[in-house]
Amino acid sequence: MESVLKSKLSSDDIMKMEDKYGAHNYHPLPVVLSKGEGVYVWDVEGRKYFDFLSAYSALNQGHCHPKIVKAMTDQAGRLALTSRAFYNDCLYEYEKYVTEYFGFDRVLPMNTGAEGVETALKLVRKWGYKVKGIPQNQAKIIVCQNNFHGRTITIISASNDPEAIDDFGPFTPGIISIPYDDLDALSKELEDPNVCAFMVEPIQGEAGVYVPAEGYLKRAHAICKKKNVLFVADEVQTGIARTGKLLACDHEGVKPDVLILGKAISGGLFPVSAVFANDDIMLVIKPGEHGSTFGGNPIACKVAIAALEVIKDEDLANRSEYLGNILREELGKIDSDMITLVRGKGLLNAIVIQPKNGKVAWDVCLALKENGLLAKPTHNDIIRFAPPLVITEEQLMECVDIIATTINSFE
Ligand code: PLP
Repeated sequence: MESVLKSKLSSDDIMKMEDKYGAHNYHPLPVVLSKGEGVYVWDVEGRKYFDFLSAYSALNQGHCHPKIVKAMTDQAGRLALTSRAFYNDCLYEYEKYVTEYFGFDRVLPMNTGAEGVETALKLVRKWGYKVKGIPQNQAKIIVCQNNFHGRTITIISASNDPEAIDDFGPFTPGIISIPYDDLDALSKELEDPNVCAFMVEPIQGEAGVYVPAEGYLKRAHAICKKKNVLFVADEVQTGIARTGKLLACDHEGVKPDVLILGKAISGGLFPVSAVFANDDIMLVIKPGEHGSTFGGNPIACKVAIAALEVIKDEDLANRSEYLGNILREELGKIDSDMITLVRGKGLLNAIVIQPKNGKVAWDVCLALKENGLLAKPTHNDIIRFAPPLVITEEQLMECVDIIATTINSFE
């Protein structure tokens, strides 16, 4: 194994090259990966790690799942891209499979999560004008503070994170931001007849795995219905079994009017995103009004079908629920004042770190890496723990040991 993984360049050489030639829009943990399999990744020196980030929940099925790799390589050798100028013999099959899988009339295929969100925003605005009868250019969309929906200009127009917005204006108008998990604030804004939609993450992932109060989604959905406002769920991070159900909205029996998926819909092999809605909403978009050269390409279709089959074949939603309960219980037993909070649902979890002797969450992640587990801080003091859902209970307990030993080393 080691000789296969040996790269001519060391990790240090590679990081220096990236630093010299790449834009500095990320600050990665100093580890250079060259192979992944299931829950494990290996760096260029052949060191093995548990992946506890799963590419921000894109790798729910684990790295390089053989069934998904096969679907991808088989299709790549046959037909990769047609654009939507022509039909291909994969898209219809994917559309049927995926709409039945998630219970919607129609799907609009895109590539990245941000494109899925942009698509949903266009869709709800058009619905607002054509169906709800909002006067032209007056439509408003309600979002929540501390959201993360992606990085485009319109999406960051919905953000209140200085890192995301500073020096990137002017911004897209028509977006109202309210506190997360605040039904009174939502009710108040819904009084405006020009509101067409409320877009929400069922759990705020990037914000640090904020789980709203029980019943929040259900009530928010109900008051949107009452006001003829579309409920849009951004499940790019929480969807596809990550939180212990197929969708995080399923925890409260909420069926969104518009559902956005990305990341794990392809098992991390390919950029695939999708927007779902029923006929009365989706059919407001007419030919030529929206699209993407790569959206719905044959490789994406085959990869996504295989990735979604894996979720069912391997019962990953139940596994996520079961293992998530164990993980939070075990993390709660770690006896250190450095961990001030453990929270999450299924295998989407976070710990909040209180600095100790000048050591912060970043230092904890560096130490975890030295001990064979990769995780990344978010917002300085939060570390997300979101392993691939294919992790076994035994592997999970090994990871709990690594985390406990690492945290205790700061005492
Ligand atoms: N929406 C949510 C909830 C996300 O967590 C993310 C990415 O982390 C996105 C949208 C954007 O997805 P992408 O990075 O694929 O554009």
